Amino acid sequence: MPAAPIPPDEDLRLAALRDLKLLDQEGDQELDRITALAASVLDVPICVVSLVDEDRLWFAAHHGTDGNQWPRELSFCGHVVNSKRTVLAHDLRLDERFCDNDLVIRRVPPLRFYAGVPLLFGDGQVVGTLCVMDQRPRPDFDEARLKQLIRFSEIVHDQIRLRQQRLAAEQAHTLFSSGPVGTVVWDAQMPPRPTYLSDNLKDIIGKRLADELHDGQPYIDIVHPQDQEAVRSSLSSHHQGMLPVLEISFRLRPSARGMRWVHQVNKADYDEAGRLQGIRSYLFDLTRQKHLESSIEATKERLYLALESARIGTWDANNETQELIINARAASMLGYREDEVEHDNQSWMDMVHPHDRVSTDQALQSYRNPGMDVIALEYRIRHKKGHYVWVQSYGRTVERDDSGRPRRIVGTLLDITESKRQESLRNRQRQLLDLLNQAQTSFLLNRNVQDACEALFEPLLRISESAFGFIGIVQHNDKGQPYLMVPTISDLDWRHGKVRNGHYERRPEGLQFHRLDNLFGHVVTHNQIVLTNEPGTHHASQGTPEGHPTLRNFLGMPIRFDNKVLGMIALGNRPDGFDEQMVQLLEPLVVTLGTLFHARDQENARVTAEQELLRLATRDALTGLANRRHFFDIAETSLTQTRRYGTPMTVALLDLDHFKHINDTHGHAAGDAVLNAFADVLRESLRDTDTPARVGGEEFAVLLTNTPLSEALIALERIRHTLDETPIQVGDRTVYATVSIGAVQWNANHVDVDGMLAHADAALYAAKRHGRNRVQLYHAELMQMEATADAPLRAANDAA
Ligand code: GH3
Ligand code: MG
Ligand code: MG
Repeated sequence: MPAAPIPPDEDLRLAALRDLKLLDQEGDQELDRITALAASVLDVPICVVSLVDEDRLWFAAHHGTDGNQWPRELSFCGHVVNSKRTVLAHDLRLDERFCDNDLVIRRVPPLRFYAGVPLLFGDGQVVGTLCVMDQRPRPDFDEARLKQLIRFSEIVHDQIRLRQQRLAAEQAHTLFSSGPVGTVVWDAQMPPRPTYLSDNLKDIIGKRLADELHDGQPYIDIVHPQDQEAVRSSLSSHHQGMLPVLEISFRLRPSARGMRWVHQVNKADYDEAGRLQGIRSYLFDLTRQKHLESSIEATKERLYLALESARIGTWDANNETQELIINARAASMLGYREDEVEHDNQSWMDMVHPHDRVSTDQALQSYRNPGMDVIALEYRIRHKKGHYVWVQSYGRTVERDDSGRPRRIVGTLLDITESKRQESLRNRQRQLLDLLNQAQTSFLLNRNVQDACEALFEPLLRISESAFGFIGIVQHNDKGQPYLMVPTISDLDWRHGKVRNGHYERRPEGLQFHRLDNLFGHVVTHNQIVLTNEPGTHHASQGTPEGHPTLRNFLGMPIRFDNKVLGMIALGNRPDGFDEQMVQLLEPLVVTLGTLFHARDQENARVTAEQELLRLATRDALTGLANRRHFFDIAETSLTQTRRYGTPMTVALLDLDHFKHINDTHGHAAGDAVLNAFADVLRESLRDTDTPARVGGEEFAVLLTNTPLSEALIALERIRHTLDETPIQVGDRTVYATVSIGAVQWNANHVDVDGMLAHADAALYAAKRHGRNRVQLYHAELMQMEATADAPLRAANDAA
């Protein structure tokens, strides 16, 4: 006989069966009690709660059998499962379904009776049976007994269902109690008291606090003192009105574990009349989240502080909407409040310095190209007060459109005005150093302070950004009063205007400012820096000369050496006004100028001394004429020229007549007076290019260059004649003197000055011999004649 066929919903049936979680389990005591009770009531030896598995019969509970499973194909229950109906066989031997079943034929003792009621679970699937069996036929098992069996099957069904629910509840409880949510159940008292504390509460609030609660300590004691009021009112607020759910986060009482946070969700249960029945609270540990939050806050705070301390502003530009959001810091860089600035690109660009617009535009255009990631710009932008600040902008794309073009760029803005100022200061210092070199070089090259000032002046105005100014040198007038000599001054119209109250005086070498009881004069008279951005209010101010542009600000710095004022620089109308920094910048310049001015003074003194020495070396002390040595030097030089170019040259020797007699008659002083008078005659009678000299006691020489012989003789004759005619006053006496002159014209035979002088001397001798007070020109024939004819006379003369 075949086994019961497999039902069509076998898969669902097996699933429902497994859901019961009864297979292969220890016997369930309740079910065992039911099967025992059923067996007794129905007066059968065997009662089984059977579960039909794929290939076996599992006894979830059994009474009166050994073992706990049978093969499925043997089972009578398989037929209940298949038919989904109660099966009743009073005598198994007589039922064709079971008559050849092993349990009926072979089992010892064999079975003769079976009654099975299906157990339905899931969607009406028969998972097994409650069945009774006997070793003897039971024709007496009537309808009433079958109904009792069915009732027992219902009890079994309920028991299994309960067991299932209990298992689910246990599972839920297990899950819950090992999970992250702690539970507290409260009564409906005011204030509520905990009636249940879940075991896992210790994982959320810590063992110590959980133990305190279990020991009956008030709940509020586990709460941080500062949060107690909030927790208390949250719990009691469920009393005040229908408040089904209320959430609160609070801190636990501080412990060695540090600050711990708890989030508590209260669910209040009300009856139909709205009376509070109880409160269930679910508690989560919030500490980690709070730590995260606070570390995020701290990070934000740190970033903010970093931005703040670095004076960094932020901006957020949208290329599509043209929106430009700038933060408070960025706005304040321009002197605005955040809400005072227009938050769009164009308004921002309008504030960019006109000189920086082109480069800024270009950078922004190129930034619109796909692939551009980072933008870095430096430009000037207008401050609310009208001046410009330098900013450095650094942006990065955070969003792109479909074609990859930057859509949204966020960036930082840094005020770099100060560093730009430093940079330009360094630049100016570098320029100034160049300038100093230049001035020094200029001075060293030609020892001219005026030229050095000239070279300095324009660059000085440029570097100091001044509209005008001057460099002045202190000089002293005859009365020892200082005045300013100004070799260089801005070319202002007023310079050419009329002289006003002796303010200044024009000179070819520069202006002279004689009045110093004014703003710039104060620098010189008080030896101090005058720096004012309101010149009119300065106590030394006398206003500006007529026609002079309005003086908006002024910087005057004394040029000193050894703390003595040697000059000053004056600067006016710098767009940003003057400040201490400008003074410091220009300090090296005025120090250098001081040194140059001092060097110039030194140089002047040296030159004067040198000139004096030279005069002493080349001049005759009595008459001031060139001395013998100097005459020879000059004559040598002239002779070289004459021999090279053949220019005419005449040398004459002049000897005062009977000078011994003058000395003897009128005294030595009178002789000296005559010598001086004759020197004057020489100076007056000769051109600047001729050289008179005193070459001996009462002997003089004259060198006439570039002069034809006829003119030379006229000049010499004039000398002779003038002296002859000139009365010389010596005390109350008048003396007359004459001179004899011997001259010689250069010719190719003259190789040196001595040779020429020898010939002049010969001519002079002839002049003496021929009666004195005359000019005698040397020529060879004459001399030849003189030498032969008058030799005795000359010898006599020499002897005298
Ligand atoms: P002669 O017409 O022949 O030249 O006659 P002399 O008297 O001028 O000539 P002599 O050479 O005999 O005299 C020159 C005198 O000039 C001698 C000397 O005392 C005088 N003498 C020379 N040097 C100076 C001087 O510096 N001052 C004065 N007062 N006399 C001087
Ligand atoms: Mg003489
Ligand atoms: Mg003489």
